Amino acid sequence: MVGSYFPAQLTDWLTSGKTLFLTIHVLGVACFGYIVARRLVPLLRAERDPRFDRPLARLAKVGKFWLGQWKHPRYKTAGTLHILIFAGFILLATRAFTVLIVGVSATFVMPGLSGEAGRVYNVVTDYAATIVFLCMIVAVIRRLVFRPARYEVPARFGKAHKADAVFLLTLIAVLMVADSLFAAAKAAAQAQQGQPVESLAVLSLPWMLQIVFASSSLLTLRDVYFGAYLLHEVTFYFLLCYRPFGIQFHVETSLFNVYFAKLERGTLKPVKWGVSDEYLDQVKSFGVKTFEDFTWKHMLDFYSCADCGRCSDNCPANAVGRPLSPRFIGIKARDYAFQHYPMFGKASNGKALIGNIYSEDEIWSCTTCGACEEECPLLVEYIDKIVDLRRGMVDDGNVPQSLQKPLKALESRGNPYGKMEKKRADWANAKEFQQVCRVKTLGKNNAAETLYFVDSITSYDDRMQSIGRATAKILDHVGKNFGILGAAEQDSGHEVRRFGEELLFAALRNHNVDAIKASGVKRIVTADPHAFNALKHDYKDSPPVEHISQVIAREVKAGTIKFNAVENGNNVYTYHDPCYLGRHNQVYDDPRDVLDAIPGLKRVEMTRSRDRSFCCGGGGLMLFYEPKEEQRMGVKRVQMAVEAGANVIVTACPFCMVNMEDAIKVAGLEGKMTAIDLAELVDQQIVREGPKATSTLGGACGDSSLCKTSA
Ligand code: SF4
Ligand code: SF4
Repeated sequence: MVGSYFPAQLTDWLTSGKTLFLTIHVLGVACFGYIVARRLVPLLRAERDPRFDRPLARLAKVGKFWLGQWKHPRYKTAGTLHILIFAGFILLATRAFTVLIVGVSATFVMPGLSGEAGRVYNVVTDYAATIVFLCMIVAVIRRLVFRPARYEVPARFGKAHKADAVFLLTLIAVLMVADSLFAAAKAAAQAQQGQPVESLAVLSLPWMLQIVFASSSLLTLRDVYFGAYLLHEVTFYFLLCYRPFGIQFHVETSLFNVYFAKLERGTLKPVKWGVSDEYLDQVKSFGVKTFEDFTWKHMLDFYSCADCGRCSDNCPANAVGRPLSPRFIGIKARDYAFQHYPMFGKASNGKALIGNIYSEDEIWSCTTCGACEEECPLLVEYIDKIVDLRRGMVDDGNVPQSLQKPLKALESRGNPYGKMEKKRADWANAKEFQQVCRVKTLGKNNAAETLYFVDSITSYDDRMQSIGRATAKILDHVGKNFGILGAAEQDSGHEVRRFGEELLFAALRNHNVDAIKASGVKRIVTADPHAFNALKHDYKDSPPVEHISQVIAREVKAGTIKFNAVENGNNVYTYHDPCYLGRHNQVYDDPRDVLDAIPGLKRVEMTRSRDRSFCCGGGGLMLFYEPKEEQRMGVKRVQMAVEAGANVIVTACPFCMVNMEDAIKVAGLEGKMTAIDLAELVDQQIVREGPKATSTLGGACGDSSLCKTSA
């Protein structure tokens, strides 16, 4: 109150304060409602996406990622700023609502906030308003002066949103100043009139402004009081209605985006929700071709992107100059939605996305490594969208030339190399290997509890066959009753699916599922993270699967596996997390525990490790397709290993191995750097003397006449 006035009692401006502020409220809320309703139009026309299950798990995500701002500290400066601003907004929400109401109801007090509780709340929110104000100044300075590279917009991706961002930050600062002026003028007037003064938090913005106003006349204070209130009202509603036109729309949408976020890692959305695989051949059009083919959740993602650039900052494709920056997959789609679903008039839709807003190379450039999704504080999803766009291109026969041959080979032979099915188990028939370990091919007369699923690259690639043999020897050593499918195994189809060839994937999967069922195994082990991810997430009704690193780690703990000390104590090892073992399946510790159990092994971490691991660049079909790029991802990764001071890169994936060895050559590091698979290293270091220990996996080697431990 200033003098005897409340905002609602303002009478000397055209109309009464109550009428004026009520009009602003009604207009503001109506405008906001209309804008949001228009923004919802494309979502209502979008593909379905059932995300209404498991409310508790979803609420837990909201608690962790939205309320808890879990991912923000990954970027220290920007993250701290965001957490402070977010906390300030949450604290100020009740105060803003109270301030809005006093314009029409002079004596309104928020229930629960009268008396001492109200005084404490006011002090807290004085500080909150001050902190938000200061954060806005810092954020504007960062945008204008320091200009972090990840905020820049390369010309090929459209125009920068910097002016929009600065304008919005300024508006929020104005809102905080208006709120503080209102409180300061009121307190200064109360003091002058000898009334009980509402206490303002010491050193807060309202407190400082109150000092400035201490000697102002009551008339001035009254004008400041009403002016600040009006400024607060207008700015509040302007912000509310302006936000849905730009990056700040995430303030409204982020809570819902996080609630409806994907719950399972490593999975892919089906071609169409509600259409089971048996009916896929009846689907008229596969994937995303027009904007309306996206699901409503994917459109919500577009609205929710805060344009912070963290996804692209961590995208390996972007880092090596491929024509892909995930941030702009979202921003371009959002701009398209704004343009084609205007506030007034009819929506114009149905335009092909490829060739208009996305290029083919852009969409083929993704390795589906998941770094973008791991980083996004708002849990925006990219892989499903990119795969859906690929499905659309594949459906239109739009497949890169270099991939046509491997795809045909997969169709006819079940592997991308076009090699004979009967040669699939040749890796296990090498004479020297058979002297130490004979691997049985499962069939009518050869049963086992465990299947070693080898997959194509390890079966057919001469170099990678060594990983297969090492894996078999380890399984043998721990006394596992295992076998392989041999010619009955086909490619897991993991990359085929991520490439967008859903029908071919379904054929490969069905074939493998039948073979696995016929073998009667109870569990599966693989040394290939891509096969691991496919068997775990893409296959239905198949037995539980483990990666060999998980098996080894458990056996090391159980004492079944013991290691000899490394021969060369000068070597420095570093572990490269394969994307489909680490990020997509969260297996980070097991491989590291295994390495740390080898006596004398010196291990260092690369800066980008664990969930920030940098993709080697070549999951599956990427081995057959080379997008335009300035540098190979593998070369960049090898340089990271050098920077970490390592001279041995250990990985746990045959695809990583291909890329690492290739990159070592390209980087001119032959003789200075080597790469080895975890299974190979374990096989090399394992202590084999003495009686065979009992495995935690149960039973000794299934057929002791077939399996012998090596000398
Ligand atoms: S999945 Fe990996 S390569 Fe693809 S956009 Fe995301 S970060 Fe880039
Ligand atoms: S998708 Fe997420 S990480 Fe990428 S710019 Fe948008 S908010 Fe930032």
